[in-house]
Amino acid sequence: MRIPMIAGNWKMNTTINEAIQLVSEIRWKLGAIDNVDKVICPPFISLAAVSELIKGSSIKLGAQNLYFEDNGAYTGEISPLMLADLCELVIIGHSERRQYFNETGEIIDKKIQAALRFGLKPILCIGENSDENEAGKTEEVITNQLMASSTRVYYLSGLVIAYEPVWAIGTGRAATGKQANETIGFIRHTISQKEGKRIAQDLRILYGGSVTAANAAEFINQPEIDGALVGGASLKPAEFLSIVKQTAEIRGRLSG
Ligand code: PEP
Repeated sequence: MRIPMIAGNWKMNTTINEAIQLVSEIRWKLGAIDNVDKVICPPFISLAAVSELIKGSSIKLGAQNLYFEDNGAYTGEISPLMLADLCELVIIGHSERRQYFNETGEIIDKKIQAALRFGLKPILCIGENSDENEAGKTEEVITNQLMASSTRVYYLSGLVIAYEPVWAIGTGRAATGKQANETIGFIRHTISQKEGKRIAQDLRILYGGSVTAANAAEFINQPEIDGALVGGASLKPAEFLSIVKQTAEIRGRLSG
């Protein structure tokens, strides 16, 4: 049984004080929920403060990005070496980075390698945009993204995939549970063909795109979906807690 994961991507939101306040509001309740991996990904600038606050709890910390070199003349960048003491996970290849910062498959692949060198677990984001979706190219786009950054070593390292259709991110227009389940089933099948059934069965694949407390159950109830990458709703303490709680309840029921 794959352990479900709910990861909160705060994006470029919260000052350090706001981050401290947000985490202080949820840490006890969130930390007390079992059988779900709970991950929060604040901006770089708040990682140290949040790391102190969640020390000793079951909440895991993730970064939203990294650069692929360890150190050097790369003004403004943050390396995996700097993150390794603070974080367990790192989001890589988010569609906003692909779109606004021109991250290509090659760059994303280098970032995954860099994360793994320092024992950081990547949450690799893939997904089609609305034109590609409307043109019926979802499977082609996803296959290309997977092939650009996928080797057996990655999967064995505990890499997590987040399927995030770009048209569903931050739009309030989530995919349906059925749509997301089918595409995630396709992702698992593609990886199974390339790397073998065992690796595909053990791989956690999350859905992301306008997940809220109101629609989370629709996704978590699907057999192929192992949790969610949550953007906007992760900034609302009650909403995020509710998504994690529902996941624990549904998964407890499904496995019991
Ligand atoms: C995201 O940023 O990965 C995301 C899914 O955002 P939202 O939940 O706001 O759509």
